[in-house]
Amino acid sequence: MHENDLPRFSKLQQQDSQVFQCLEHEMGRQKDGLELIASENYTSAAIQEIVGSVLTNKYAEGYPGRRYYGGCEYVDDVETLAIERAKKLFGAEHVNVQPHAGSQANMGVFMTVLQPGDTFLAMDLAHGGHLTHGMHLNFSGTLYNPVHYGVRESDHRIDYDQVAKLAREHKPKMIIAGASAYPREIDHARFGEIAKEVGAKLMVDMAHYSGLVAGGIHNSPVPHADFVTSTSHKTLRGPRSGFILCREEYAKDINRTVFPGLQGGPLMHVVAAKAVCFGEALEDNFKTYAKQIVANAKTLAETLMAGGLKLASGGTDNHLMLTDVTSIGTTGKVAEKALDRAGITVNKNMIPYDPRKPLDPSGIRIGTAALTTRGMGTDDMKKVGEWILKVLKNVEDDKVINDVQQEIREFASAFPVPGIER
Ligand SMILES: *Cc1c(COP(=O)(O)O)cnc(C)c1O
Repeated sequence: MHENDLPRFSKLQQQDSQVFQCLEHEMGRQKDGLELIASENYTSAAIQEIVGSVLTNKYAEGYPGRRYYGGCEYVDDVETLAIERAKKLFGAEHVNVQPHAGSQANMGVFMTVLQPGDTFLAMDLAHGGHLTHGMHLNFSGTLYNPVHYGVRESDHRIDYDQVAKLAREHKPKMIIAGASAYPREIDHARFGEIAKEVGAKLMVDMAHYSGLVAGGIHNSPVPHADFVTSTSHKTLRGPRSGFILCREEYAKDINRTVFPGLQGGPLMHVVAAKAVCFGEALEDNFKTYAKQIVANAKTLAETLMAGGLKLASGGTDNHLMLTDVTSIGTTGKVAEKALDRAGITVNKNMIPYDPRKPLDPSGIRIGTAALTTRGMGTDDMKKVGEWILKVLKNVEDDKVINDVQQEIREFASAFPVPGIER
């Protein structure tokens, strides 16, 4: 940690040197390495300040103007700001900003729309879906009856005809669009038509690409969906949390489900940070940021493909790509470890129709939202792509990996991480 950071954490350092040391190490890791995990980002210093504020002290069960605790006048103001900004940002009729994270936002919709045992249709986890879309150990898979659609084997794109066919066949009460590892733009209008045809509610989980929607570079689900859920910490670049958008007709039901249905007191420091995050995303320069994320992803994808790597669906429309590393003779697990040693953080990931197992799959998932926040552009992505290729082609060569790590450390020092002084 740089000495400029010390005043901010001096109390912690004095009181608890063990936790302080963990923080110090993590700050070093974030500063010296390249963060390419597609679901991560760097929050602004302003967001870090409000998350670290006295708002964490406040209990505020209920909603603005209708709380179960006294002293809520100021947290009422800040929750109202978060709601109004999110409505404006996404053009939504109603917003609930209290879900603690993306999974709780999804649970809020499940509990509002479905009864235990009801059928819903969502994307297969192995094809890019999320745990909360019906994985067998998740609440969504144990309490409800999931039916899954996937991507086509030929081009790794969602097969909308298959979605429609499954919807007609299984008559789900709810259809979920949205994914954690799908590199292409999702056709929300088509999902809306399918849901309407079979009388299902449409929930769009835009957890990954809500920043691209906010920046106007991905089509918005809001006009087509009954419910839209999201995290705030992925491409949207806010605090670790979630929120729900819906039509006015569901406002009362969704609010009742989130509190008292599934949560107690909201995390008011995080609700306030969501207000700051939505404020940032309403600024014009957020559009520039969103565009740059996608331009960076395209350049990185082209660099990797030129170096011999196969990409699921042959490229990307958004902030992420799924790379089949078996195409250059390694595996997802080995690739993740080798890249980590070089200071490049990614996660191993199944690719569609993966013959390998989840703990050592064929692919890695790579995203550009975080590096774009650090100010990197397309020329930098070419360098990053070359480093990735070099490591993947030399996973057992410590000398090569150490050299790359040194180069990256020096390169990264030119791109500050918000909240860490240089
Ligand atoms: C990340 C993600 C979530 C859940 O987020 P948490 O905040 O980790 O609970 C939900 N849905 C999708 C599609 C995601 O990618």
